[in-house]
Amino acid sequence: MRLPDLRRAVLEANLELVRHGLVLFTFGNASGISRNDSLVVIKPSGVPYELMRPVDLVVTDLDGKIVEGKLRPSSDLPTHLILYKAFPRIGGVSHTHSEYATAWAQARRAIPCFGTTHADYFHGEVPVTDELEDSEISSDYEENTGHAIVRAFRSRDYSSIPGVLVANHGPFTWGPDPAASAHNAVILESVARMAYFTLGINSQARAIERSLHDKHFLRKHGKDAYYGQRKEKK
Ligand SMILES: [Zn+2]
Repeated sequence: MRLPDLRRAVLEANLELVRHGLVLFTFGNASGISRNDSLVVIKPSGVPYELMRPVDLVVTDLDGKIVEGKLRPSSDLPTHLILYKAFPRIGGVSHTHSEYATAWAQARRAIPCFGTTHADYFHGEVPVTDELEDSEISSDYEENTGHAIVRAFRSRDYSSIPGVLVANHGPFTWGPDPAASAHNAVILESVARMAYFTLGINSQARAIERSLHDKHFLRKHGKDAYYGQRKEKK
């Protein structure tokens, strides 16, 4: 994506988080990366969404050095950068403190796959990271948050589980572009809410069987996907 287009896409992804009620005040942030230029576009820190313009977004390199923009980037930038470096196929990252996903993160419980809505988007439970050590909190906190996420994916595929709960903090989601990362944030909040209700109705509810989980994920993703309309061949 060209940089001006990426700026617009990142602004739109941030506004999408607001439209779906996932952010309070200025909490939450979305970013996107131009892999060709190795440049990241992210929301500025503390600017009200209703006043934000594409020009206010901050462009940095993968070390966090500001390349374009007068404002300070979101303080979570180092977490986003770790994810872009560790997960080479992602193009966008969103972070919110949406209530239900954050409640699961605070309870430090992974979200089991109780149904097909979850299975359509997350091929497995939505994992929760380990708690950060004191030393990881006292220095390079945001960067260490990124490392904790990457550790949670040591034996998971970040492409088929596009989100995580950071322990005692909240969700991060990602996708091929900024819009997809925001979409996955909305879906994750819905899945977290439904899982909470499911356990309220039946505290013994169990995750769905692997066969149904695989069926739903794989009909939508992967080489044999058939859900939705056939994509035009380019
Ligand atoms: Zn946060």
